[in-house]
Amino acid sequence: MPATPAWPPKSLPRLFVRTPLAEGAIVALDGGQANYLGNVMRLGPGAELLVFDGQSGEWLARIAEAGKKRMTLTVERQTREAETVSDVWLAFAPVKRAQTDWLVEKATELGAARLIPVMTQRTIAERVKLERLEAIAIEAAEQCGRTRLPDFDEPLPLRHLLKHRDASRTLYFADEEGGDWAPDAFTPGACIILIGPEGGFTDEERAAVRAAPNAVPISLGPRILRAETAALAALTTFMAVAGDWRLIDS
Ligand code: SAH
Repeated sequence: MPATPAWPPKSLPRLFVRTPLAEGAIVALDGGQANYLGNVMRLGPGAELLVFDGQSGEWLARIAEAGKKRMTLTVERQTREAETVSDVWLAFAPVKRAQTDWLVEKATELGAARLIPVMTQRTIAERVKLERLEAIAIEAAEQCGRTRLPDFDEPLPLRHLLKHRDASRTLYFADEEGGDWAPDAFTPGACIILIGPEGGFTDEERAAVRAAPNAVPISLGPRILRAETAALAALTTFMAVAGDWRLIDS
């Protein structure tokens, strides 16, 4: 079995479109997309590409019309079903904008299903612009082959997350002060991985998280990782031992 799924030919561009896709559907691209395909990729009428809408999997489409600022596609056939995404949510305390952008891109590539910006006592972050983060996730999904996009929650306080989350969803608490060895602690199933801010969790927050039902403190090794590194390390470990990396060979 190939180590990675036999994606459709890598040479075809992949584009996320907001039009619900079906055989014969006509898709009108926005100016940015028309410019990318026409001027950057230098594609014209008749050229093929892959499109996905986040719900119905991936489809082969063909450029029907191409103008200066507009382009339409016709959808020909489905190339892939929508994949099942591991039910892993990443709750992260936003850090500086470039690092948060990077964290969102990596979490999307690694298959996180939902991204939840969490405000903690030491979170120092300019206002989180969800539109910007969603655009980063779309680009990452186009690149990595996802057909489903991660969902985003509005930023919320940590106490709100602890109070209102579904307690059946395991809360893996990445605690820089120590916890269970992550590869052992991670088990398949719905979960939230919680990563703190640059300044770490306060003792009060640490106690509150540890007291929450179905909370599992995890260690990500003996060194103190930057928040964005911790998010990457936790997601990578989860996908490897309990997520969808294993499914590919089954
Ligand atoms: N400034 C703090 C560390 C914050 S690191 C200090 O020096 O103690 C940012 C976040 O990354 C932490 O809140 C934690 O969620 C995660 N993290 C970093 N290193 C970790 C480790 N070795 N184990 C578990 N979580 C870690």
